Amino acid sequence: MMCAPAEPRPLAQHASHHPATLGPVSLYVHVPFCVLKCAYCDFHSQPFCDVSPEEPEHFAWAVGEAARHWAALGVLDDVLSLYVGGGTPTTLGDGLTGSIADLCAIANMRPGAEITVETNPDTSSPELAARLHASGVTRFSVGVQSFDGADLRVLGRCHDAQAAERAVRELVATGARVALDLMCGVPGQSLASWQATLERAVATGAGHVSVYPLTVEEATPLAHHVATGALPEPDPDAAAEMMERADEVLADAGLARYEIASYAREGEQCVHNLGYWTGRPYIGLGPSASSMVPVAAFRAAAASESWADPSVVGVGRVIVDVPADAARVRFTHAADTVAFIRTATGAPEEVEYLTAEEALREDVVLGLRLAEGVAADLAERAGVVDALLRLEQQALVERAGGRWRLTRRGWLLGNEVFAEVW
Ligand code: SF4
Repeated sequence: MMCAPAEPRPLAQHASHHPATLGPVSLYVHVPFCVLKCAYCDFHSQPFCDVSPEEPEHFAWAVGEAARHWAALGVLDDVLSLYVGGGTPTTLGDGLTGSIADLCAIANMRPGAEITVETNPDTSSPELAARLHASGVTRFSVGVQSFDGADLRVLGRCHDAQAAERAVRELVATGARVALDLMCGVPGQSLASWQATLERAVATGAGHVSVYPLTVEEATPLAHHVATGALPEPDPDAAAEMMERADEVLADAGLARYEIASYAREGEQCVHNLGYWTGRPYIGLGPSASSMVPVAAFRAAAASESWADPSVVGVGRVIVDVPADAARVRFTHAADTVAFIRTATGAPEEVEYLTAEEALREDVVLGLRLAEGVAADLAERAGVVDALLRLEQQALVERAGGRWRLTRRGWLLGNEVFAEVW
């Protein structure tokens, strides 16, 4: 079934709930299944061998229920991008095609909306990729991490470099846009092997590459290996050198850095992620998924029957106490797949309220991640010009063309900049 944009539903259908100020939104689905657990990963996901046979089907049903809940409130009237991530969505196989078709029927997808599916070399096949692309998926994001076998073993990935290369080339051959994730600062990784990984990434024809330094998350097998001395701790200086090398190699290949960690050929920037960095509201469906909406949309959800039910998981009982000065609300569902299936339309577990001033400040912090930076008038409205002037003196930010943006030094020391602005 082709995932054509749904016929727009008349807004009057939601007139009693519709949060008039919402505008375009991004929709995210967290699929909590993987083939195996990677050594460094602390995302909410279960190895497929621990998942009961009926769970994927129940999960897909629950995602549909959650989407219908938001659609009934008018929040999905103008969806600019759908991102199915996780986890590894392609563990669902052909069931994923049906789920995406359902979501496209429930939400009002804007014509030409970006629809991304995350995949992995070990769950990707040319047949599945072709079916997903034919059903409306416009973009694949592939977790490659490295084209070096030794790095992949340290990271506990369950594919080798050849499988990764083959999977990416097959995805590129579908005609969809393809993005790769790569990881630097892996213990034992040399600058030469990193350079080779970058060159192989470019040679696949992927139009988008994200580069992340490895971080050691608590309670992961990697943290255990580092704590016991089986592996050295990742070296931040080595990772910074590798980030700089990535910047050079990818720029030479025509992939420009448009965000701290993201590189793309012209026209291949990720619409969905750009939403996160420009303050576009987003709805996350699934266990551990986060959402961010203006307070009016949150109040509409909080007033719904399913959130008001104290028997459902989360903080539904206290949500009625939305602070009077809240302007924006960020909330996250419990990292519990069974609870999500049981109470898909229930209240979130964690809620964070931001005042109008805090929301503006957040927009500046997120916008500074972008190579183009943020408009000077946004910085003024957010009341952060003094902080930016201090950072300018340290050569961490600069002003150009009515915008504030990170310098090259600021790009490498982004966290210092963001802390100062916040
Ligand atoms: S494939 Fe991704 S989500 Fe799954 S365990 Fe590995 S890093 Fe985590």
